[in-house]
Amino acid sequence: MDALSFDKARSVVAEQIPARRLAPERVKLSDAQGRVLAQTAIADRDYPPFKRAARDGFAVRSADIASVPATLQVIGETRAGEPSVHTVGPGQAVEIMTGAPGPEGADCVVMVEYTQRDGDSVIVGQSLPPGRNFVPQGSESPSAAAVLQPGVQLDYPQIALLAAIGAHEVDVLPQPRVAILSTGDEVVEIDRQPKPFQIRNSNAHSLAAQVRRRGGIPEILPIAPDRMEETRELIKQGLNADLLLLSGGVSMGKYDLVEDVFGDLGAELFFTKVLIQPGKPLVFGLAAGKPFFGLPGNPISTMVTFEVFARLALERLAGINGASLPFCEATLAEDFRHNPVLTRFLPASLDGNYRQARISPVKWQGSGDLASIAKANCFLVATPDRESWQAGDRIPVLPL
Ligand code: AMP
Ligand code: MG
Repeated sequence: MDALSFDKARSVVAEQIPARRLAPERVKLSDAQGRVLAQTAIADRDYPPFKRAARDGFAVRSADIASVPATLQVIGETRAGEPSVHTVGPGQAVEIMTGAPGPEGADCVVMVEYTQRDGDSVIVGQSLPPGRNFVPQGSESPSAAAVLQPGVQLDYPQIALLAAIGAHEVDVLPQPRVAILSTGDEVVEIDRQPKPFQIRNSNAHSLAAQVRRRGGIPEILPIAPDRMEETRELIKQGLNADLLLLSGGVSMGKYDLVEDVFGDLGAELFFTKVLIQPGKPLVFGLAAGKPFFGLPGNPISTMVTFEVFARLALERLAGINGASLPFCEATLAEDFRHNPVLTRFLPASLDGNYRQARISPVKWQGSGDLASIAKANCFLVATPDRESWQAGDRIPVLPL
């Protein structure tokens, strides 16, 4: 089977996994983080519900402060949490606090910093256009407007909005169950003391964390030894879930059995190699009607191939709308070259400078180096059509 390009392989995953929409379940908003909204969220009233002061100061008529300094008569005060009871006439002002409803007649708020109180009067030292420092009623969203659509994964911004409109319970989609099957005779459970030639099963735990972040429920299966029988039984068990992720056993080694076992099970394979690194051997198929990925076993390859392929499958099963990878760009801190043809995802670190974020690859010993990925905060993406970049050039980035 031909190796697919990165873009082609992603479109194959999207084609094969139709976006799933199951009967929703109702959860408390406090339990909804990471869940996928199954309803349209409707504004229960205007937002803001009243003409809201955005600053502490004095509510005035803009015409009255066209020439400054202007002395106005203070007719009262409105605090946040109080109804507005005043009407501001010509030459008048109401002292007002941030979050308070604006009085009738006033069309702007002069910040307290630009005023000087003098008994019953205030001297205003700044002219403002009408509207300044008031947020008009209904300008964020009018009553009955749809503020969120089904298919959005809920995180703190959406949760804040749902809280604001009083949606203390929400309808969300059921979470896909994702079976995780690590293979390899050298791999042992993390609570066991490995023999000198063994390693602990870190992949099951990185994958479980990645699955949880993308709205799935991970189910870690026992480790499959490099024997057909046992691997086949565990794969069958894994196919009870909505998605099966295997790690290891997809390379060309004598004991890399995953492809053979799926062959025996009559699976349909859509690709077995993708032109990316890390992660060139990568199996995607359907068995017993269930999608599965055979991810390469090297820990960073497992992580990358999950992020760029399995995540897409999971997001579609979870019902997330418009799943796409959040690529961006940064400025290289040093020269960089790679062997083109492959799309490379290399652990890298972006410094915290927001004016011109600079990226440098993290020094690593290859795709088994967990100590290096733990220092990274993104992947540098070396595109297949270019060989070298110089310090100061822009290069694509995939945030971790
Ligand atoms: P494989 O893809 O089976 O040839 O494995 C490639 C490399 O990844 C080998 O060095 C394995 O020991 C390592 N590896 C495989 N599975 C795991 C796992 N579950 N956790 C950590 N490392 C693994
Ligand atoms: Mg192996």
